[in-house]
Formats: sequence, structure tokens, C-alpha cells
Amino acid sequence: MSQLGKRMHELIKPLSWLLGKWRGEVGKGKYPTITDFTYVEELEFVHVGQPNIQFSAYSWHPETNKPLHREVGFIRRKPDSDKIAFIIAHNLGVCEIEEGTFTESEIKVESQSLGRLTFGSDPATKKVCRHFKSDGDTLEQILYMETVNTPMTEHLRITYKKTWIIKMWIEKLTVVVVCLGCCIHGQRDRIDIKNDLTIDQVILGAMGGTNRAAASMTLPDPNRTLAELDMVLTKKQYDSMYGNSTRTKRKAVSDETVYWTRGQVPYKFAPNHFSAYEQWMLKVAMREWEKFTCVRFHEARQSDSNYVYFQDGLGCNSQLGMVGGMQILNLDKGGCRFKGLYLHEIAHALGVVHEHQRPIRDNYITILYQNVEPSMKIWFQKYNPAAIKSHNVDYELSSVMHYGVKAFSGNQQQTIRAKDQTRESEIGRVYAKELSFTDIEIVNRMYNCVKETSECDGVTCAGKGYLDQNCNCICPDGSQECTSGTTRDTSVSNNARTDRENWMCYIWSRQGECQRNPGYMNSNCAKACAQEKKNTQGQSGLCENTYDDATCDKWKNEVGDCRVAENFMKKNCRKTCGYCNDFTANRTPPQTQCMNAHNNDTACEVWARKGECIVNDRWMPLNCRKACFTCPFDEQTVNTVKPSGSTTPTRRPMTTRPPTRPPVITTQPTTRKPVEDCVNRYPDKDCDVWARYKHCTINPTFMEANCMRSCKVCQDNDGGVGVTKNPVLNNCKDTWTSPEMCPIWAEHQHCVINPGFMLKRCAKSCRRCTTGLRQAAEQVVQENTENSARTLIGTLSSLSLMLLLLFIIV
Ligand SMILES: [Zn+2]
Repeated sequence: MSQLGKRMHELIKPLSWLLGKWRGEVGKGKYPTITDFTYVEELEFVHVGQPNIQFSAYSWHPETNKPLHREVGFIRRKPDSDKIAFIIAHNLGVCEIEEGTFTESEIKVESQSLGRLTFGSDPATKKVCRHFKSDGDTLEQILYMETVNTPMTEHLRITYKKTWIIKMWIEKLTVVVVCLGCCIHGQRDRIDIKNDLTIDQVILGAMGGTNRAAASMTLPDPNRTLAELDMVLTKKQYDSMYGNSTRTKRKAVSDETVYWTRGQVPYKFAPNHFSAYEQWMLKVAMREWEKFTCVRFHEARQSDSNYVYFQDGLGCNSQLGMVGGMQILNLDKGGCRFKGLYLHEIAHALGVVHEHQRPIRDNYITILYQNVEPSMKIWFQKYNPAAIKSHNVDYELSSVMHYGVKAFSGNQQQTIRAKDQTRESEIGRVYAKELSFTDIEIVNRMYNCVKETSECDGVTCAGKGYLDQNCNCICPDGSQECTSGTTRDTSVSNNARTDRENWMCYIWSRQGECQRNPGYMNSNCAKACAQEKKNTQGQSGLCENTYDDATCDKWKNEVGDCRVAENFMKKNCRKTCGYCNDFTANRTPPQTQCMNAHNNDTACEVWARKGECIVNDRWMPLNCRKACFTCPFDEQTVNTVKPSGSTTPTRRPMTTRPPTRPPVITTQPTTRKPVEDCVNRYPDKDCDVWARYKHCTINPTFMEANCMRSCKVCQDNDGGVGVTKNPVLNNCKDTWTSPEMCPIWAEHQHCVINPGFMLKRCAKSCRRCTTGLRQAAEQVVQENTENSARTLIGTLSSLSLMLLLLFIIV
């Protein structure tokens, strides 16, 4: 199925440059007996640990998408030599053995034997020669052919590019796994990761690689543009940010109408698109923005006509600011589910643009244009200064809005170089991402959250510090030492040295890491933890929340912050969490009678601090009642007997997978069953559910062997192997004024990217004439996901899941 997880056979190693998926957009075909033609082709070379390489080649018409030539086969190498053989079956009814030699970048083979059908069409092919030549991420193939009528003549010529999503994911597999681990193990792993993916790489991966992303940049909908990989801009926004005429300058995106009214952002989750854990994590990301700014998120009510709609769509992208009505924020299941990315996309929804395109960027970074993919150069253009309000906020390399150092690279080389080389490693990392001082400042200034000294009893903040919504100074190092009249606290040895390190410590301490991860935090962030502890002690006076009551209630109920970020809440939401009188006990009144039903109190505590009371909201509040603060009132004061057997745990927390997930087993690749025998081996009911949850993509080996009907992977009627398609109705038409564009857009995935336009005006090319718009969009998305990312992401997910499970078990 894939090379992932398989040890490469020694014999194959010298050919490893060939492995992976290649795509050629402009193949040229000619032959004396036919008219010249063009074609698109994908090649895939895969090894499964055996001394051979499996390969497949699929070509199709660039405009009509009509499938053309197909071939499948194996490559074998003669041991201890440069001899190589291709064993090939063609869909035209020919099979052949080609032999020749290879080097570290070239293969030359010619046919030694050719098998033909007795009823094959004429003229018969006599001989075929092919020549592969690789140059890093490109691969050229030239094929010559001789028939009984025509001597050896060039027939096909094409240059492929590596579909680098695959390469990237393979390279980064270890890191992804490590990072999944850090969700479990806490901060220590997160900060130690040096080689993780950047935000742009994650987004590009979810979009299916550079080519597709490039194609997506010109949406046929004249009113929308997908800019910079992940910002969907209205025409007005695009013109003002990228246009340079004086006329458009005036219609600036800095126009405050794109900001959410009174900083209130309603949102909805698409039903079943996010697991409980993912929803929780998204809310945690929103809470991060709320904690440091005056922006507030709430689940959309009937009366909210403008809201953000989180869904599992193609790519990771958001509209910029509030655009009116329901606005989609796509977080692809296939690669966008990370907190760092949530912070980033939510910021776009708030109206924040990318850091590396700010007009002042040239003082901080250099763009290496020679390495930028030509079609992507536009996305390094600096924004029109008139269109962007910078609010005099400093440029920040560690901003959550900064793309990585290889963003939009056409050759895998660096495209962004930091002027301050010592800080280059801070750029763009997505997993380790937390909000920077400037990210918070820009939103605070955009939404008028910054208070004046006169509103705060004369408090002033030195240097870059400013007054937040609660009249506290936000200082660049996260301390409160820029507040007027405060002296620097030198009583605690401070291991974090720079302002930015101190800032990160401060963010983490507010997230509860000092309690959750004391080993790491005490040695690296001692000062931040000491400050936090001091804040929670010796408080007296009124039992009031620092933040408004509704916000504190929300953090308590939606995110579980009374446990997850306990010390932060002790200071800021003391009333809501019931911490007013006794800061040393867990809660007031002391819960001496309140007991966890689960027999391991420590485990309950650990789970509660990780948010399990919310994520695992059936099991935890019942079995870890003390840890989740869910004891009934009478239990808090009256002696009760610890609940017995009936409430002992039935499920350990942190298994956030749906119970219907099929087992993750890897077997040898399965052969696909012919149509008449296209049945599921598991009950249809189960297979259909699994397929609906995209397990055909996530776990293709199992699913294609056991749920082939539900995954639609049976043989076509014409004998080709492929996914069965819905029939196209005869009266189905592309109604757009230039219908010839429809198949091209469809090929470039616009049925998925821009279904609103495409399904209406290019219904035929999107093959969606029979179903409703919404259903159609879902189908296209699903089909697309299955086709594009099936093997790779599938395997990756399975592997990651297994490892994740291992972490949990350990
Ligand atoms: Zn972005």
C-alpha cells in the first residue's frame, strides 16, 4: 500500500529517488499517424518492503478529464548490477517486459517482449523505449514507439513534479507523531520541538500540495479570492490589499466594518465535523484570545445573523474579519486540527492579516524570490499600506500569523530569511504556537480593548506595555513589572532570559502548565510560576471576578478552566469557581465528603487538569466527581459512602475516538473485487457509518478489504480499476457563460473549493446534477478527500492513531 512504516529493501535503495507520487500537467503526445494531443499524468512508485517497486501511471485529458492511458506494473532490479526491468500491463490490451539500466538519476529501458490480445486493434506495437530522467523534484519521461507501420519515433514527452505533500509528510512523520504525543504529555515536548511543520506547510498539506493550492488561488467566483493559501477575501478586500490604484486605496480593509460588532463573535460547529476533543481545543483557542483581549466568542443564537461556521472543508482557511451572514472557516480533518492553526485562522476571522506581508516586513526579513514558486510570488507582495492598519504594533517573527521560512517555495529551498539569524527558528512553527505579545496587542488595538490611564486610576505602563481590558499592564515579557511604581522582582532566579522566553512562560503559566507540568515549568519558567502563585495568595476583599461573570461562567462550563487553568481562575474568576475564602483548599467549602468513584484520585486530578471533565463529559463527572467539582451539594456537607461497583469506570479518559472505529490493522494490499461481487464483509450498517466518518481515507487498508461497497472501490464496468462514479444525467449542463472553463475548474478542485458557484453553473463538470446543493458539496468533498489523500494521509493517520493509542496506554 505504501512505503510508510516499511523498511526499504536493500535492492531498492539505489532507486529510492523514484519513489513517491509525481504529477505532470503538460504532457505532449504525437505520432505520425495521429493528431498531436496533450495530457495530464500522475505516476506513483511505491515499495512495500519487497525487492521490487510497484508503479502506476494514470493519464487524462487536461480539459475534459476523460481518462486516457493507464498502466500498472512492477520494477525489478538484478542484484549487484545496474540492470533493471519493468513488467507492465496497459489498459489498451498490451503487456510487456522492458529491460535496461539505471543510474542515480536516469533509467533507460526498452521492450524485450510484448504480449498482445488476439483481438487487439491495429497497427500492432512492435517495440517501446522509455527514458526517465530525474532532477531533484522533477522527473522527465520520454517514450518512443515502433509499430508495424512506423519506425521508432518519439510518442510521449512529459515533465512531472513531485507531489510534495507526500514527501513532506514522510519527512515529518516522526515529528507529527511526537507532537500528537505532546497533547498528552504537556508542555515539555512542545517547547523542545525544533523541526516541526510550519503553518503554511500544514495548510498546503491539507490542500493537497503546491499545484492544487496554486490552482485554487484563482476562484471563478468573481467576488471571492483565496489569497495567501488561507484567507478568503472579498473583491473589495482583495482590491484594497493588492490593488494599487488610488481609487481602490480609499476602500481600505482597515475600514472597521470588517470588525465584529462590539467584539462579539458568534460561531457554530458543523454537526459531526469535530470530535469532542477537537471542539474543546477550538474553544480553548478562542479562550486564549478572550483571556488577553476583549473579543468574546459565543455559540450562535437564533438572533445572530452573522457568525463563523467551523466545518471540515478543503484546506484550512477563513474569511478576513466579519463579512456578514454565515462565514465559513474550514478546518480540514486531513491536516488542520492543531491549536496553533486554530489560533491563526480565528485571527483571520477577527480581521488579522499575515505578518510577513506587512508593509514594514523588509526591516526584519528578506524574501528570497529566486526560490519562490513563480505562481505564488504574488503572495509575498507587501500589503498596500493604506489598506492595513498597523496600529504601530512591532513586527514579530514569532507571531502566530507568520508563515514559515520555506513558505511558497518552488524548490524546497528557503524563501524567508530573518535579518536577525538568531531568531529565525522562531518563525512559523505551528505546533508550538502560542499567541505572541504583538498578536495580542494588534487585536486589542483593533477592537479598542486598550484602556487609557485616565480610565484606570492613573496606572501607567512603561516601555511597550499597555493597559488591558481589566486595567492591568500587559508587559512584553508577561510580567507586571512595567506597571508604574513596580520594581523588578529579583527574588526568583529566572531561567528564561529573553523577553520572548519570559512571554511564553507567562502564557503557559496562565494555561495551567505550572500545575500540569511542574518539572519542566519550575526549571524553565520559575519566575512566571512564582508570579502566578503570588497572584493567587493573600487575596481578600470582595468575592468578585476580574473578568465579567458571563465570560468566567463560559470558561468554567465550556473549557473546564476551574480545573484546567486553576491558578489563573483563582485570580480572575474566583467567584465563579468558588475560590473566595480558602485559596489553599481545592474548593470552598472543603469537600471532605465528596469522593471520586474512580479508585485513583491522582488519575482523576490529572485528567481533570487536561480538560477531560469537558471532553469526556459522560464518564468523568460521574467517576471523578471530586476532581471535576460535580459532587451534589448534599455530598459536600453530609457523610456519604463512596459509591460502589456500579459506578466503577467503564472507560478510561482520553480515548476520544468514536467507538465505531474499525480496528487499525495493516495487511498486504488487497485486490479490488469486481462489481458483481462488490459486497461489504462487515455489516453494511457498520461499513456505512465508518465510511461516513471517512475511514475509507483514514484506514484504507482495512476498509477497502472489508467495506469495499461502502468505500465505492469496486471495478469499473469497462474493466479499469477505479472509483465508481455517479452517472451524469443527459440533460445536465454547464450553464456558465464560458462553459469550456468548467471542466478546467473542476479539474482544479473548484467544485470543492467554491461549491456555491460551481455546483450551480458548472453542474455537469462537477458531475452533480441530481442532488441538492448541500448534499452535492458534501459528496464532492468526500470524493475529493478519498481520491487525493487516500493512501498517504490514510496511512499516516492510522500510524499516528496507533502511536497516540500507545501513548495513552503507556
Ligand atoms: Zn493565514
